[in-house]
Amino acid sequence: MDGASITFGAFLATAAIFVMITLALFPVVRRPFLLWLSARTAMIGLMALMFMSPQLPIGLSEGEAKLIGGVANTLSIAVAGPFLASYIERRYLLDRTRRLLRAVLPIGLILAGIIPLVPHAPILTNVPEMGLLVLIAIIVFGLARAISVGSRAATFQAVAWSGGVAVGIYLLVHEIVTGVEVDFWTTAVLAALVLEFIVTSMGVVDGFMDFRRQRDAALEEVEAATLAIATDPLTGLANRRGLLRHYEEGKRGRPHGVALIDCDHFKRINDRYGHDVGDEVLIAIGRGLKGENVFAARLGGEEFVVLLYGEDWQSLAEKARRRVTSAVIEDVSGLATTVTASAGIAQLREGESLASAMKRADRALYAAKDAGRDRSLAMIPFDARPPGDPASPQLRVVG
Ligand code: GH3
Ligand code: MG
Ligand code: MG
Repeated sequence: MDGASITFGAFLATAAIFVMITLALFPVVRRPFLLWLSARTAMIGLMALMFMSPQLPIGLSEGEAKLIGGVANTLSIAVAGPFLASYIERRYLLDRTRRLLRAVLPIGLILAGIIPLVPHAPILTNVPEMGLLVLIAIIVFGLARAISVGSRAATFQAVAWSGGVAVGIYLLVHEIVTGVEVDFWTTAVLAALVLEFIVTSMGVVDGFMDFRRQRDAALEEVEAATLAIATDPLTGLANRRGLLRHYEEGKRGRPHGVALIDCDHFKRINDRYGHDVGDEVLIAIGRGLKGENVFAARLGGEEFVVLLYGEDWQSLAEKARRRVTSAVIEDVSGLATTVTASAGIAQLREGESLASAMKRADRALYAAKDAGRDRSLAMIPFDARPPGDPASPQLRVVG
């Protein structure tokens, strides 16, 4: 085997591998341009086999090889249209240009159908060549439009095809000027085609990276939005949705109890110092309620809920309630009176829903307000009631 055959064999192998890789990628990423690209590469391989093979393909006459090569060449250009239409980023291609590029395929198919008729109908002699020029003009136009608005895919593709264009122009000019064919034209065309394969692959990989970047950015946005809809914007605590999500995820297991904590006479703070100071107090309360073995959420207004994780759930609630006062003292200056809160606490019984336990905690909270505020009351079952409980048959003062 001579050097030319080895070079040509290597070229065909490269084309075949390229076809296989693009086809194998399609089921994974489902982008149609991969199919058009593999069709184009297959047609280029066939065209090269017919025009540039050191030996004529077995069983074919020179005329037949030329005919098949011409058809393959036309088809390789015909599929370049839909390839670009589906390859160039959607945002960089006007619908009109996309339709024009898609039209390259049917026109190309017609031209390919005309080629075998030419020997029988001399009137058609120049039609395939002229038609190809039109198709190439559409492709160049589409590429130029996309590049002018910043398409990376189109830029990569222009570079990929630049070798072929340069070689084509050189061969043409050389033949016109000297009247003889360049003797190394096969090598030059094969080199241009290999350049096309390499740069096209780079463009495809670059496109996938861009695709991935966009997907990552979208995922981040979804994550941020998911967090935002579960978060109270004022205090940064979870809102009711965030509370339920946290409870249902159950990452910290099942809470032992739940406390509803409500700021005492909050309306007076608003009335006396203004809404902005009221907001500052709420923010301070939000910070104060956070703590070990608890999960705090803002239900609305100045009402908070705290999930209590521990056997000492009652004292966890009482500590959280007391932190309201200390946090407001630390964070909000200029208040003449100390801010207190009342808490209603309930144990989360075996099999009981969070909503049911919160309802009982709410009753305890009302009782705590009625009993004079600034205290925690826990709902306890009748049978667990200590003798002589001061609050009510069902309630016990905590702390
Ligand atoms: P009690 O001790 O009985 O709980 O009395 P209170 O004044 O705390 O309760 P009330 O429900 O009468 O008043 C709550 C007030 O909280 C009324 C409302 O204007 C105010 N409020 C609700 N949401 C916000 C908020 O986001 N910011 C501010 N600054 N005030 C709010
Ligand atoms: Mg209140
Ligand atoms: Mg309230």
